[in-house]
Amino acid sequence: MNQGSLIVLSGFSGAGKSTVINQVLAQRPEIYFSISFTTRQPREGEVNGVNYNFVTREEFEERIARGEFLEYAQYNGNYYGTSMAVLREKMAQGIDVILDIEVQGAALVREKMPESISGFIVPPSFQDLENRLRGRGTDDEETIQKRLDIARVEAKEVPKYDYIILNDAVENAVAQVFAILDAARCRTQGRMDLLEDFKGE
Ligand code: 5GP
Repeated sequence: MNQGSLIVLSGFSGAGKSTVINQVLAQRPEIYFSISFTTRQPREGEVNGVNYNFVTREEFEERIARGEFLEYAQYNGNYYGTSMAVLREKMAQGIDVILDIEVQGAALVREKMPESISGFIVPPSFQDLENRLRGRGTDDEETIQKRLDIARVEAKEVPKYDYIILNDAVENAVAQVFAILDAARCRTQGRMDLLEDFKGE
């Protein structure tokens, strides 16, 4: 059986990444979404073991020491990390795995798993991002400016990604993610079994 693909998705805060990923998973429930570990507090409505595995700093650091993470990073004062075990198990079963991680973590995954695919979700423009952040009405001016500053820094990392996913409308972004996953399934390396019968002596 062919290995499942690993697709790493990143995006600016407020660019609609979670909505896109949720739609992808709703339409293709066979895809496995890797549930990260984090030390940040759960937001309202977030469920432990569904959105994240919420742990203390102490537990997170023990997991680092045990070498459990494929990658981890600090973001906004909290640890975030991807556990290796489940991810490898799913991929070995031929299941595609999605990671939702920020740019430092994505760089580590590219290094450790060069066969992985990475995509960065962008809004149509910087102005659009600013409008979306203001439209949510959840952040004060200082937080909005901070998120926009982070976006300017993160933008410098985008050329390292394999794909840019334009989120001008959720359904378009979802279609682009499916196109990437479908193309990954057609890669020569994973399809050489189709040529078994063509081998000469
Ligand atoms: P939030 O706190 O808004 O859920 O996530 C903050 C950032 O952390 C997002 O950019 C998200 O993609 C990233 N993130 C979530 N899980 C992980 C992880 O396991 N590793 C890394 N490196 N980043 C993560």
